[in-house]
Amino acid sequence: MKPRKTTGRRSPQQVLRDAISHHPAGRIAISFSGAEDVVLIDMAAQQGLSVDVFTLDTGRLHTETYKFLEEVRKHYDINIEVLMPDPKEVRELVTKKGLYSFYQDGHSECCAVRKIGPLKSKLESLDAWITGQRKDQSVTRINLAQTQEDQSFSTDDHTIVKYNPLSDWSLTEVWGYIRENNVPYNKLHDKGFVSIGCEPCTRAITPDQHERAGRWWWEEQTQKECGLHAQNVVKIVG
Ligand code: SF4
Repeated sequence: MKPRKTTGRRSPQQVLRDAISHHPAGRIAISFSGAEDVVLIDMAAQQGLSVDVFTLDTGRLHTETYKFLEEVRKHYDINIEVLMPDPKEVRELVTKKGLYSFYQDGHSECCAVRKIGPLKSKLESLDAWITGQRKDQSVTRINLAQTQEDQSFSTDDHTIVKYNPLSDWSLTEVWGYIRENNVPYNKLHDKGFVSIGCEPCTRAITPDQHERAGRWWWEEQTQKECGLHAQNVVKIVG
């Protein structure tokens, strides 16, 4: 199903509502990992909207992140589908290259096994997914649309739509919403972490640093996508 054409900017709540009503139940889902994604789950709950939620467990997440997932599951009384990588592919990677090959070889190879493989399998069963991406998160996201065709995972005979309801929101607006609505958040945020991914690839930042500075800090800014949103990178460097 192609993205529906819309005119003008819509509120995140509108984008979310339109997205969920546009696709049959079970064919659209929220991808959950960070603060923005819980805002989306909260907005859906506040509007009485039912939507599937999935998350990627790479096997390398912080303990705080696992506790956060559980807190969200209980807080909203929802099921969260936990996607895990193919154990054979993980075994082959770590046997051949060790547990920290991304520091030398870049993150793409490990992310491909631990994130992209499980996500690709999941998206084969969906027509659309909803993400918490924002334009000001990264130089790779400055052209981010509220609704777009997913050029990374669509195929000739299966179009996948990606909704980014928070594309125009700032980090300040996200946290304003979280505080105002008592939305659960990852306790690592209280320790200086802003953008949170896997434990070996995420670190706390100082107030003067950009929020993505704590992710893959040994790599170029323009390459800071893990493949989930690879089309963003193509727009910058292609
Ligand atoms: S973020 Fe780091 S540990 Fe996680 S999948 Fe990517 S390279 Fe591997």
